[in-house]
Amino acid sequence: MKILPVINIKHEFVHKKGKPSEKNNKNSAPNRSCDLVPVFYYPLINVSFKKAKRADFVDNIRDVPGITCACCGIEVYPYETVSRIEDEKLFFFMPESVRMLIKTGLFNPQKAGRAEHEAFLYLKRLADKYPDKSFKNVMDTGSVQEEIQKDLSPETREKIKYYRHSLKRLCRNSKEMIEIMQPYENHFSGVYREVFELLKKYSKKYPQKDFNYILNIPDVYYRSLHKLQQRQKNVVNEIEYYTKINYPRYSKLLKTKTKRAKNIIFDEDTKIPQKRQRILDLYETMRKDTCPEYMDAVMKIAQKLPKSSNSRSAFIAKYSYRSSEEIAHLILVSGAASEEHIKPQHRDKQDKGPDTNENKIVMCAACNSQRSKTSYKDWLLIHPEMIRNCQKYIDKIIDAIIDKKLVNYNDYPPKVKESLKIESGGKIDIDITKYEQYYENYFNTTNKH
Ligand SMILES: [Zn+2]
Repeated sequence: MKILPVINIKHEFVHKKGKPSEKNNKNSAPNRSCDLVPVFYYPLINVSFKKAKRADFVDNIRDVPGITCACCGIEVYPYETVSRIEDEKLFFFMPESVRMLIKTGLFNPQKAGRAEHEAFLYLKRLADKYPDKSFKNVMDTGSVQEEIQKDLSPETREKIKYYRHSLKRLCRNSKEMIEIMQPYENHFSGVYREVFELLKKYSKKYPQKDFNYILNIPDVYYRSLHKLQQRQKNVVNEIEYYTKINYPRYSKLLKTKTKRAKNIIFDEDTKIPQKRQRILDLYETMRKDTCPEYMDAVMKIAQKLPKSSNSRSAFIAKYSYRSSEEIAHLILVSGAASEEHIKPQHRDKQDKGPDTNENKIVMCAACNSQRSKTSYKDWLLIHPEMIRNCQKYIDKIIDAIIDKKLVNYNDYPPKVKESLKIESGGKIDIDITKYEQYYENYFNTTNKH
């Protein structure tokens, strides 16, 4: 077995990644040898959605019974629920984590230096004190953070950080993870739900392996990579075709760009998560040699390059490098309630959407991060269901106001109706007749007294 040089600690073994052989990658998934080799990981970075700003608005709306994402229509849940599932169920508790440190050799009493011993003993004490809290949860505790800063040496602090980091690679097996996550699956949205379905399917076959392992099974990984490359190639071809027809004078210039874009798509040395941006940058550099209308049209097509937030293949290709804990987190958080500005706040400085309730709706984190600053005009072309789901969303809110479950939001339905209508160029025109009737009956009679 060929062993690749190992940097840092590598306890997991996954299938060696490489270019699928030409013979095999036609229609079926490449049939690679199943040699297990330690794999290189990208440095661990915490993956998370754009941190939803803590705001009263989200806190209030998410508590409306049965409230759904204004875009995809799934029932959203509070972000805190995600943390609770992770801390109370998904992550190992502190004592288990400490045992793992020994079991995996991360802490080896014979070889460990002074700082490592100190760190380990400190963690062991924490495990006795907090037997039913996760490592992360304990580390996030204010008093523990203070203690670490005050009582431990910088070297020991570093070791603790390193242990926490390394423990991310160690998690429950896929069978247990699925059992924990399944009760919440109705909240998982879009591509994240599709990935969950896939993990569920493969966990039956590999119950003892983890999510990271499943995404790296050659049949899963190469099938996705191949699909992703095909779709990327189609987008690049579409740009070339568009140029030929509409702007033949740029054809020659574009030819070299197309060639380079295809090199990036199939290049093994470019990290997969960086490919999309590199292709976009490649076209962007043409701006100085072409005209603005041409570039706008080209970039619009280039934006169709699949992203991990809208394509299962892109998700698998990108996150197969991440820990199971992070993959689970992304899926769980996809359905968390987040604040969406109808008129984006960061569109441009002169034409900034206000930070008021009337410019806000609740979307699931998946839809929110996917929309970013796309205009509703373009967004509705890909997500026509939003028209229907905005109605579903406002109906729940109207019911909550009428049932007195949501107070101080009397102005919200008519005002948000207006904001949605303006931003969507009249396409989203929610019906609030029920609310207007209630408002008239209720408020007019109350005001008379
Ligand atoms: Zn959604």
